[in-house]
Amino acid sequence: MRPTSIKQTDNNTITFTWDDGMVTPFTIQQLRDECPCASCKGETVLLYQYSPGARRQLPGHYDLKSIEPVGSYAVQITWGDGHGTGLYSWDYLRNLHIKNQQK
Ligand SMILES: [Zn+2]
Repeated sequence: MRPTSIKQTDNNTITFTWDDGMVTPFTIQQLRDECPCASCKGETVLLYQYSPGARRQLPGHYDLKSIEPVGSYAVQITWGDGHGTGLYSWDYLRNLHIKNQQK
């Protein structure tokens, strides 16, 4: 399963269309808040959860600068504050969409 298109569909929405016909819109804010990189999400080290806690937001925190494909399994999103280490795998995005449906 992979996206066939990734488009900004309005000021604040990135919409992924998938090869199984699923359409999954995400707000830019959600994509940033759910950045899957270790420094945003914390890491599990020896079963203890390391949590980065509240982070100071730099200017551009929610400015989406670019979305680049990484191999055939993910996209890398770069933000206006220079942050760009989050790899959003297809599984991660699909699970995020399922979470949205359950709200
Ligand atoms: Zn991050």
